[in-house]
Amino acid sequence: MIFQDDYLSVDLAVIGAGMAGMSAAVMAIAHGLTVAQAGLTGEILFSSGFLDFLAIHPISEKRFWNNPWHAVHKLAQDHPDHPFARISDSLMHHVWDTMLTFFSRESLPYHRAVDENTQMITSQGTVKSTYCLPQTMLAGVDGLKQQLPCLLVDFCGLRGFSAVQIADCLQNRWKNIQALHLCFPNTNGLSEQYPEQMAKAMEIQSNRKKLAEMIRPHLKDAHLVGVPAIMGIENSVQAVSDLAEMLGRPVFEIPTIPPSAPGIRLKETFERALPKMGVKQFLQNRVLRVDALPNGNFSLDIGNTEMQHTITAKAVILATGRFFGGGLVADLNDVRESVMNLPIVSIPDRFQWHRDDFFDPGGHPIHLTGIEVDDQFRPVNASGMPIYPNLFAAGSILAHQDWIRSKSGVGLAFCTAAAAVDACARLISDKS
Ligand SMILES: Cc1cc2nc3c(=O)[nH]c(=O)nc-3n(C[C@H](O)[C@H](O)[C@H](O)COP(=O)(O)OP(=O)(O)OC[C@H]3O[C@@H](n4cnc5c(N)ncnc54)[C@H](O)[C@@H]3O)c2cc1C
Repeated sequence: MIFQDDYLSVDLAVIGAGMAGMSAAVMAIAHGLTVAQAGLTGEILFSSGFLDFLAIHPISEKRFWNNPWHAVHKLAQDHPDHPFARISDSLMHHVWDTMLTFFSRESLPYHRAVDENTQMITSQGTVKSTYCLPQTMLAGVDGLKQQLPCLLVDFCGLRGFSAVQIADCLQNRWKNIQALHLCFPNTNGLSEQYPEQMAKAMEIQSNRKKLAEMIRPHLKDAHLVGVPAIMGIENSVQAVSDLAEMLGRPVFEIPTIPPSAPGIRLKETFERALPKMGVKQFLQNRVLRVDALPNGNFSLDIGNTEMQHTITAKAVILATGRFFGGGLVADLNDVRESVMNLPIVSIPDRFQWHRDDFFDPGGHPIHLTGIEVDDQFRPVNASGMPIYPNLFAAGSILAHQDWIRSKSGVGLAFCTAAAAVDACARLISDKS
């Protein structure tokens, strides 16, 4: 990698700092590529911490699958144009292993049963099927499975998390829940509390001790204790096990509404680890312009509103997300790709973007639009030919998938990023 103050030349430039962009950077470093990355925060901050793979297919029938691999195979069979249909099982296994090893090495261990989705309760009092969940939530999975008596704690001023409401909504799924309402230590009943500040407070052992003293008199016959996900940012596992030890019971976290501590943990983990691994990050910056150079490489202008850096790259992965991330932009009549004005799979009539019923079980056609790619995850033109041999796309910007309804957000980001990086690494090694 050549890097001077404002000149950088790399193998791969990743555009986007969401789950797809971050995992692409991790995978590319594992391939020995030099990497630069630009992007704003993306959806990671909004993450519950659950890493979904695939739980529902077909979405119109809302059919749930215990085994996500079986779901992926059926989806690929039914929709050969879905991005999962272009990726081998072995690569998907590899990316999950790589990412979970990465998180674990960075003190953010995740639980996964390789061939099973796991059921876990949410702050809405529903039960969600996900593929991997933070270790700090695991005791809740066993509690639900075994119907263990549970004490569920909420806090004054923490919005969107009511222990009474969760217990009430879960009546038919987990009967043995008692609710406890507390004021968070040292807050004197403040009317508003935020998960990030609470999580930072829980990093201090004396605060955990105070919390344990407040909970202890209410334990009675509870076998385990559930709390909102506020148990630290940097070492949540330590914070949870410390509280559990003080209470003499397993403790588990439940995701809060965003921005949640598990989302912040993921974001900070990537931002801390990737520069150490050699990725040159331009965070809180966007790629303002991409040009194909006569030698086949790309030049990228990076900045906030004005260009501050120019870098060159042998290949680019576009992982700019959908409407939320900014990769797709819609006006009254059209949808366009925001960085390179690439063609997208569109639907002709504005009035067909959404179905009449917002909750239509089939989903909305607009959610299936995006970038069409070939088997190498290269954006293609109307004739199905790659637009550039060294431009790849990954994540939610891809067409023919509805990650929201199929519960496949992070799985789609990780697996497509791995496929794009694989193809890119092959191309670069063939050239050299
Ligand atoms: C509220 C919410 C909750 C979620 N919960 C879950 C969950 O529990 N489990 C799960 O599996 N998934 C969940 N997801 C989905 C998951 O977070 C997304 O599917 C996934 O993050 C998509 O990742 P992405 O990288 O493709 O896109 P995004 O996360 O949208 O990232 C796009 C990135 O591209 C960047 N970008 C855009 N334009 C430019 C540009 N010009 N230059 C540089 N960068 C640019 C953005 O700044 C951003 O960094 C949730 C999403 C939301 C919104």
